[in-house]
This record gives sequence, C-alpha cells and structure tokens, in this order.
Amino acid sequence: MAAETMEKCKVSCSKDGKGRRLWKKVKYQLVEYHSLPGYLRDNEYIVGHYRSEWPLKQTLLSIFTIHNETLNVWTHLIGFFIFLSLTIYTAMKVPKVVDLHSLQHIPDVLRRADLHKLHSELMTCLPDLHKLREELITTFPSMDLLPSIAGWHVMDLLYNCLPERFSTGNHTDVCVLRSVKEDVENIIAPLMVRPITRWPFFAFMGGAMFCLLASSTCHLLSCHSQRLSYIMLRLDYAGIAALISTSFYPPVYYSFMCDPFFCNLYLGFITILGIATVLFSLLPVFQNPEFRTIRASLFFGMGLSGVAPILHKLILFWNQPEALHTTGYEVLMGLLYGMGALVYATRIPERWMPGKFDIAGHSHQLFHILVVAGAYTHYRAGLVYLKWRDLNGC
Ligand SMILES: [Zn+2]
Repeated sequence: MAAETMEKCKVSCSKDGKGRRLWKKVKYQLVEYHSLPGYLRDNEYIVGHYRSEWPLKQTLLSIFTIHNETLNVWTHLIGFFIFLSLTIYTAMKVPKVVDLHSLQHIPDVLRRADLHKLHSELMTCLPDLHKLREELITTFPSMDLLPSIAGWHVMDLLYNCLPERFSTGNHTDVCVLRSVKEDVENIIAPLMVRPITRWPFFAFMGGAMFCLLASSTCHLLSCHSQRLSYIMLRLDYAGIAALISTSFYPPVYYSFMCDPFFCNLYLGFITILGIATVLFSLLPVFQNPEFRTIRASLFFGMGLSGVAPILHKLILFWNQPEALHTTGYEVLMGLLYGMGALVYATRIPERWMPGKFDIAGHSHQLFHILVVAGAYTHYRAGLVYLKWRDLNGC
C-alpha cells in the first residue's frame, strides 16, 4: 500500500512546497516486513513499523520517533548511561572508603604528634581502641596479621578523627602512649603499601559500556543500507565478545590474585578466545545463516567457560562468605543471561501474536533488558570482590 501511494505521488505531486512535504512524508513512512530488502528481514513475527533504507539524517533522527526498533535502541542506550554513572560513582566512592593514597601522610603526622593529646583524641574518637587492641593481641600474637582484620569501618573512623587534631604539648606517660601510636601505625601502614588494583573491575565496566553502546548504535543505524548494516553487525558481535571476555576479569583476577599461574591461565584463555571471536566475526562468511549455530555456540561457549574458574574459586574459598556471596550473584547473572538467550531464540511472545508486539514487548526488547540486568548483577558481584580483597589482601 505504501508503494502504491508513493507511485501515485511521484506522478501527481507538483514541485511546490506542499508537494515536496507530502513526498517526504510518504517516502519516510514505516513499511511492512514483506516489502523489506532481504538483508533487513530477520523476524517475520514483527509484521510492521519498519524503517527501510532511509538517508543517514532521517535514520539518526528516528531515535526520537516511534518504530519497531525505538525501544531496542533506548533499552541499551539507557543501560549504557546506567553503567557510565556506576563507573563514575564507583571510581569516586570506592577509593574514598579505602583511601590508601590520602592516608599516606598519617604515619608522619603520628610521628610528630603530641602523644598525650593523641591518646585523649583517640579515646574520644575510638572508645573501643583499647578493647580492640587487647582482642587483637590475644587473637594474633604476631602484629603482621593486623591488617587482615582492619576493616573499612576502622579505616573510616581513623581517617575522620586523626588528622589536624595534634599539637605540641607536654610529653607524659610516653611509653604507654607510644604503644597506642604503634598500634595505629601497624593497622594503617601495611594497607597503604598494598592497594588492590582496580583495573579488572573497570575493564569489565568498559566492556559493558562498549557492548551496550555498540548494540544501541547497531539498532539505530542498520536500516540505512546493506553496507552500514554489515559494519554495524560486526560492531555488535565485537561488543558481545568484549562484554563476555571482560566479565571474566573481576572474578578471575580477584579470586586468583594470590596464585599468578591460574590468574594468568584463565585471563589469557578468555582474552585469546575473545580476540579470536572478534576476528572470526569480521569474516564475511560469519554472517551467513548457516553460521548462525556456530555464532551462537561460540558466544555460548565463551560464557560457559566461566563455570571453570567459579567452581575453582568455590573449592579454594568454600569457607569464605565472600566466595559464596559472589557465586550467588554469578548464578543469578547466568539465569538472567540464560533467560535472555531463551527469549531471543524462541522469539516469545511475538510468535504467539504476530504484529501485536511490533512497537513494545517483543522478544528482542526483553532480551536487552535481561542483558542489562545480568550485567548489573555482575557489577554488584564486582563490588563484593573489591571489598573482600581490600580487607584481606592475599
Ligand atoms: Zn539487540
């Protein structure tokens, strides 16, 4: 019907402004599945509301109009902004809680401090310090073990109450007070020289943001031309491979950071597999329908190989609550991704009522939401890993 109107308009519309406006309106209206070129035909259960071979300007502007890809674009674009905000939030918040660099000046302050005043300040700020010290000494005869139980809470208290409260004065009771000073130094100093690196966590956040932005762009622009559709699909595959690969970095790095052999083995394996998948997906043959199964198996295999390091982690740290906590998140993430893959493959619900879910509610939109939820679950697991290693080191 659209084609018919277009033909009529081509013949009868005059060259005046009204005619041109009408021509534009007809030209950029949405079309049905059966009038799409072959490369844009993907899901016959989505019957109408397709954009087809629009100019780049109209394609870009269609981010603000309603068609069957609008929610596919926005679900992952909003997901991208959620992850961008979480990255900024975590980068600002986490180092402040365990602000190792800004604590570096504390031993110097303590060395110069008025010990008598320091003692009274500490007693006001940390009424339980004596109790804590007694407990630590009875529990851990070697002071080397202190950092392993110096929690973020204690770090926060010390950070808030120690600086700028010292001044010169009389030096009485030096011996007793010196031991308090040494206790504080022993708690803080070892933590300062061993900050836990954040790069595996931020590599995952970068991978997630790249995947979400690539997917969103792919859904917006693929309808422009066969050439752009080809490039965009490659970008989308690269994004998926990047998300899966970088998802391994926080669990593998923080679980095996004390065992460089397994840490490098798992990280090397998934990095090589990720790069191989991206390179393989660049081959034109990768897009052929007969490669659909190989494509799906490759991504599925990458995800499934995550079971090995997770089981390994559970065997090594079965008695640590953080290992169980993170595994809980990882199982939840697996369920969300698994549900997403199931919805994607079965094309539920639109197969039950073709044409009824064109704009909202079709399988690909549900799949997008489940991917964002799965990645968010992984972010939460990443925070548990960071806290675990910040408190315990190796
Ligand atoms: Zn998608």
